[in-house]
Amino acid sequence: MKIIKGLLGILLSLLLIAIGFGVGFVYYVFVEDTPVSETLKEDSEVPSGETGIDDEVIKNGDLSIHFMELGNIYTGDSILIQCGDNDILIDAGSEYSSAPTLISYIDKYVTDNTLEYVIATHGHTDHIASFISTEEYTGIFEHYKVENIIDFPLTNSSGSSRTIVGRYRNARDNEIAEGANHWTALECYNEENGASRVIQLSKDVNMEILYNYYYENTSSSENNYSVCLMINQGDNHYLFTGDLETAGEKCLVTYYEENHGGLPHCVLYKAGHHGSKTSSCPELMEAITPEYVVVCCCAGTSEYTDDNNNQFPTQEFIDNVAPYTKNVYVTTMVDNYTPKDEFESGTTVKSMNGNIVFTVTDGQIKLMFSNNNLRLLDTEWFKSKRTCPEAWL
Ligand SMILES: [Zn+2]
Repeated sequence: MKIIKGLLGILLSLLLIAIGFGVGFVYYVFVEDTPVSETLKEDSEVPSGETGIDDEVIKNGDLSIHFMELGNIYTGDSILIQCGDNDILIDAGSEYSSAPTLISYIDKYVTDNTLEYVIATHGHTDHIASFISTEEYTGIFEHYKVENIIDFPLTNSSGSSRTIVGRYRNARDNEIAEGANHWTALECYNEENGASRVIQLSKDVNMEILYNYYYENTSSSENNYSVCLMINQGDNHYLFTGDLETAGEKCLVTYYEENHGGLPHCVLYKAGHHGSKTSSCPELMEAITPEYVVVCCCAGTSEYTDDNNNQFPTQEFIDNVAPYTKNVYVTTMVDNYTPKDEFESGTTVKSMNGNIVFTVTDGQIKLMFSNNNLRLLDTEWFKSKRTCPEAWL
């Protein structure tokens, strides 16, 4: 009997050790853990596969930035930032139908039903539709209590009630009537009417509304009106420029060179305009030398063009970021490709990296992905649709 018990004990110990190795391996494979300052890492074997987002890491982190999938075939932006007691939502794309997808995700992390800050970058559907309630969907403004709203000073829209901007303003104004503060990004930058340029989010982290020339000058492109902001965490900076295009980016670089000693090196950069060729220009990339780049788009989408090279994320965008980093990630991709004129009827999409969560805990960066942790350059989509830039060879 003693011998049997002894053997059972040894077997049990071996089993526990095996489980321990298994758990450790899964953690190693699916959760990237990279020191903040490490740039242009050497090519390492990056495995693919299913992964999960570890809610404990998010809960214990000093900062988390969630790039959310939008639940339909349309490219758009919606980014949740959590820091201290503050929940910030930048944009709510891509369509009215994204609202339930966004709300069910955000509700997992925002437990008091309150968004301390909402940023609406510019007046395009793929950034503001889900703020609005429709007969079918409850929008973000109706679902959450919103304390502060910061949005775009200018638009080329007439703002009539039939336009997306008009509908956005109606929904926003209802929220203001219920007590939300509202400022334009220009008021924030100029610190007018009680607005702040730099908003403290926690002891070590603030959100800085940047100056964009097109806050007070008109552009033929609505994208250039985008609210631009930087999250600052000590020497770590995270840049969000909405859909700002090259003209706006060049102004941004020049303005900060002339007035603030230049834009800083950015650990994280949300690819401008979904990885369009009209954004992430060389001047901006040279100024911020990004380490991690996240593209919110459906890779290979024919939503706007049939030209493969110009479909998000574009060849030109990839060529512009490649000299600075290999760490480029994409939320969603096309599953069933159709030409542009059949886009709405035939296209289906699936997760690429999926929901992407960037966290910082005690100075350590972790990237977590709901689908897989492949960098763009390691994906089959990239290998078949893009030319590998020299810097990535
Ligand atoms: Zn957009």
